Amino acid sequence: MKIGLIGLGIMGQPMAKNILKASYDLTVSDLNTAAVEAVAACGAKIGTKEEIGKSCDVVLTMLPNSPHVKSVMLGQDGVINFMHQGQVFIDMSSINPVASKEIAAELAKKGIEMLDAPVSGGEPKAIDGTLSFMVGGKQEVFDAHKALLETMGASVVRCGDVGAGNTTKLANQIIVACNIQAVAEAFTLAQKAGVDPQLVFEAIKGGLAGSTVMNAKAPMMIAGNDQPGFKIDLHIKDLNNALDCAHTVGAPVPMTAEVQEILQWLHGRNCGDNDHSAIAKYYEYLTDIKIGR
Ligand code: NAD
Repeated sequence: MKIGLIGLGIMGQPMAKNILKASYDLTVSDLNTAAVEAVAACGAKIGTKEEIGKSCDVVLTMLPNSPHVKSVMLGQDGVINFMHQGQVFIDMSSINPVASKEIAAELAKKGIEMLDAPVSGGEPKAIDGTLSFMVGGKQEVFDAHKALLETMGASVVRCGDVGAGNTTKLANQIIVACNIQAVAEAFTLAQKAGVDPQLVFEAIKGGLAGSTVMNAKAPMMIAGNDQPGFKIDLHIKDLNNALDCAHTVGAPVPMTAEVQEILQWLHGRNCGDNDHSAIAKYYEYLTDIKIGR
């Protein structure tokens, strides 16, 4: 099976290396030539969009957002122009599920199947090959390509038809953002009331309020560590997609709207490159405290 991968950023580059480790024939492309050369040094071929479209059985993308995937696949010199019936497109980017469905509909006109397969786990899990894939698309297409995704992930779950993968990713991003906000708000209350947030964390982490998010982000808030992790600007992108999708399907998302405003405030204060746990800085600004310090 010949694989093409377009998008070799923080995530795409280690994912490409894991595909190579599994001995697939891989051709790669990116606007960043240094990234392309780094993956070529591990055994990948370098190709144009035309070469990838014409020659690869499966075309993968790992790009920032919906406009990038639409432009690369459906734009003037988009990959779709060079693909033919029987090939498969798998988009691993986190994009708007409405866009996933639009791209799938265009590809279907040429007899090309599509899966939307965004991931969670971030760079460390991309390097380890232990990402979690949330996949949308036909069952038979999923079954035929699960092994390919398993070269990059420890968990590969089909959530429904095309768009279901990115809908699941939006649900994930809403839960993570609101959970971080709740932790920051609660720790601020504790500190203002004279109770050490570190002790609050120790006391409640094993109970119902405990969460993977709290375990990862509470120590960062308490230490004032804003090194990403997952950047505020990427979370703004995901929540914009969540709000857009929610408005399209008629789902009320007031919590998402509120935390998005906090993220936008942080972006405006040059914190867009901070880890999303820096939501705590919003509360610190309002109350003139430093959580846990
Ligand atoms: P990134 O910005 O590091 O990489 C994107 C890559 O796409 C860059 O190398 C860029 O040069 C390339 N690119 C952009 N436009 C292109 C074009 N027209 N043609 C060819 N290449 C092009 O982003 P990332 O962190 O790797 O994230 C990729 C996707 O994965 C995003 O949707 C993101 O939300 C998602 N994601 C990221 C993380 C994370 O922790 N970074 C975790 C889970 C999911």
